[in-house]
Amino acid sequence: MISKSIKAALLCSIVLFASCKKDEKQSENKEETTTMSDNVLLQEWTGPYEGVPAFDKMNVADIKEAVEKGMELNLAEIDVIANNTEPATFENTIVAMEASGKTLGDVFTYYGILSSNMSSPEFREIQGELAPKLSEFSSKISQNSKLFQRIKTVYDASQKTPLEAEAQRVVELTYKSFEMNGANLDDAKKERYAEINKELSSLYNDFSDHVLHDEENYVTYLTKDQLNGLSEGFVKSAAKIATDKGQDGKYAITNTRSSMDPFLTYSTERELRKQVWTNYYSRGDNGDEFDNNDLIAKILKLRRERVELLGYDNYAQWRLQDRMAKTPENAMALMNAVWPAAIGRVAEEVADMQTVANELGDNITIEPWDYRYYAEKVRKKKYDLDSDEVKQYLQLDKLTQALFFTAGELFNFAFTPVEEGKVPVFHEDVKVWEVTDKDSGKHIGLWYLDPYARQGKRSGAWATTYRSYTSFEGVTNVLASNNSNFVKPAPGEAVLVSWDDATTFFHEFGHALHFFSANVKYPTLNGGVRDYTEFQSQLLERWLSTDKVINQFLVHNKTGEPIPASLVAKIKKASTFNQGFGTTEYLASALMDMKLHLADPEGIDIDKFERETLAELKMPKELPMRHRTPHFGHVFSGEGYATAYYGYMWADVLTADASEAFAEAPGGFYDKDVAAKLVKYLFAPRNAMDPAEAYRLFRGRDAKIEALMRDRGFPVTTTK
Ligand SMILES: [Zn+2]
Repeated sequence: MISKSIKAALLCSIVLFASCKKDEKQSENKEETTTMSDNVLLQEWTGPYEGVPAFDKMNVADIKEAVEKGMELNLAEIDVIANNTEPATFENTIVAMEASGKTLGDVFTYYGILSSNMSSPEFREIQGELAPKLSEFSSKISQNSKLFQRIKTVYDASQKTPLEAEAQRVVELTYKSFEMNGANLDDAKKERYAEINKELSSLYNDFSDHVLHDEENYVTYLTKDQLNGLSEGFVKSAAKIATDKGQDGKYAITNTRSSMDPFLTYSTERELRKQVWTNYYSRGDNGDEFDNNDLIAKILKLRRERVELLGYDNYAQWRLQDRMAKTPENAMALMNAVWPAAIGRVAEEVADMQTVANELGDNITIEPWDYRYYAEKVRKKKYDLDSDEVKQYLQLDKLTQALFFTAGELFNFAFTPVEEGKVPVFHEDVKVWEVTDKDSGKHIGLWYLDPYARQGKRSGAWATTYRSYTSFEGVTNVLASNNSNFVKPAPGEAVLVSWDDATTFFHEFGHALHFFSANVKYPTLNGGVRDYTEFQSQLLERWLSTDKVINQFLVHNKTGEPIPASLVAKIKKASTFNQGFGTTEYLASALMDMKLHLADPEGIDIDKFERETLAELKMPKELPMRHRTPHFGHVFSGEGYATAYYGYMWADVLTADASEAFAEAPGGFYDKDVAAKLVKYLFAPRNAMDPAEAYRLFRGRDAKIEALMRDRGFPVTTTK
C-alpha cells in the first residue's frame, strides 16, 4: 500500500535534488548523449509518444555500466554548474541543476524495473556493488561547497527580490535540502557532521542485523497435536518451513509478523500464543549482544548532536520543517486528539471479547496474546462477511474499467488501449493505454499496467513514473505505471479479487492520476512530501464504493447483477471493526517515535523511557505498541520514518476530511465543482505549492479530525 515512485524515491534520497528528476526533455546542447555508447540503456528514448523506454532491449548485463556512466555524466554537469565563472543566477544555477541528470534518470527507469518487476540474483549482486557508489555519488553533490555557494547566492537574492512562484519554490526547496544536510556548516562542523553520519549508518546496520537475528533465531516448533484452529494452508507452510530448518515432522512458527499474526488470531493453544507473542515483541530486547536498547540511545544522541550543529533544538523540529505538519507540536496535537477515543474503544473491544470468552466458558482474563484470537471471534459474531461472496463481484477487467470511468468523471481523462507491439514492454503481461483529454483529445501520456504476480517481482502493489510532467524545457508527456500481484488466470477466466485488493487497485491508480494531472514547471516540484503524498491515493479509494461504480462495474461475474446494497453496507460496517486495536497500537508507536526524539538523549534509558511513557499515556495493558522501540525499524534502521511515523494518520485525516467535501456536495462524489477544485489544488500542483495552503484552497479551511473519527467509528468531540 505504501508505494511511490521507487526510482524517484531512490534518486531523491540518494542525490538530494540534483538529480531526482529524470523527466525533462532533452535539451539542445546534449548531442553527445546519443553518440557516447552502444549500451542500450544509455540511449535516448525513441519511438512513438515522444519516445518510450526500450524495455524490449533491456539487459541486466548493461545496467552497471549504464548507472556508472549516468553518474559520471551527472557529476560532470554539476561541475560545470559549480565552476561557472559568471555570477550565480537562477538560470545558470537552479535551472541548470533542474536540467541535469537526464541520462541517469532514464537509466533509473530500467533499474527500477530490474529491481521491482524483473529481479534476479544476477541483478541483486549488481545492486549490492552499486550501493556504495551511489552513496558516494550523492555525497559528491550534497557536499560540493562551490555548488552550494551558488545556490545560496541565488537563494539570498530571492529572499530580497522574490522570483515568480514556481521558481521561488524550487529555489527554496533546493536551498533547504542542501542546508538541512549540512552544506551551510563551516569546515570543522562539516567534518563532525560527516563523522556522525558515518557512525549512524553503521548503527542503523547493527540495529537491523540485531532484529533480523532475533527474527531468525526465535522459532516456535509445534507438534501435530498443537495445530488446533490453524488453517490448512498455514499448517502446510509451517510444515515446510520446519522441514527446511531440519525439523521434519514439526511445524515452525517463525518470529515474523506474517507468521505471528495468523497464529495469534487462530491458534487455540493459549500457552503457545503467549510464547509466540513474547518472542515477537521481545525482538531486539533480550538483554544479550543483539539487544538494541543501548544502540538506540546512541542513535538518539548522535541525531541530536547533528541537528544541534545545524542550529535546531531537536531532531523532530529539523525533520518536520518541510513536511505538511511543519512542527512536532502540530503532529503531536493530532495524535493527542485521537488517542483518548482510541484507548476508549479498546476498553469496549476488550469488554466484548471478555463476554465472548465467558460465553465460551474459557476461564481467562484477556491478555495481549488473547487480543487477536478473541477479536476474531467477535468479528465472526458481529460482522461476519463471506469474502468469497464479495469476490464474485470484483473482476479485474471490470475494475480496470471502473478506474477509467472514475478518471473520466473527475479528471476528464480518456484511456484507449495502445495496439500491441507499438510500445515496448518488459513482459507480455504488461498492457499499455494512451491517456488523452476527453474533450480536446490532447495527448497526456501512457499508462502501463503490470497486473500479475511472477517470479522476481516484488510483493504488494505500487505506482511509479518513467517520465513526469514538466514544462520548463517544453511540455513533456507522462509515462506512469501501476503494478500489482494478482494471480494470473487460466485463459478466458475472470480474475476475481478481494475487497482489500480492489481498494489497493484504486489506491495505486490514485498515484498514477496524481502523476498524470501534474502541472509543474520544474522537475523538483514533482517531489513528494511524506505526510501528504499518500493522501491523494487514499482519497481515490473512496470511489470504489460509489453508486455509479457499483452499478456499472461491481457486477457478478456469472449473473451480471450489481453487488447488493446490503453486502456493501456489511463491508462498510466491518471497516470500523477492531479500530481500537488498530489505532491504539499504531498511535502508541507514532507517539513514542516523536517523544523519543523530543526527549533529552543525555543518559536516556530506553527501556525505562518506553515503560514510563506508556504509563503516562495510560496505554491499555491488553495490547502492545505495533512496533516496540527495540525493533522499530521504520525509525532506527535508517531515517526514512524517524519522527515521521505519524504521517500515515496525518494523510488519513486529510483523506477523511476531503472525502466529506464530496459527500456533502450537491453532486456527491461526482460533483463537478468539487472535482475541479480537487484537480486544481490537490493533484495538479504536486509540490509546487505548500500542501497546507493547497488544502485550504480546496476546502476553504484546514482539515479537521472529525471525519477521521467518524470513519473509524469513534465518538466525535469538537476539536480544532
Ligand atoms: Zn500509496
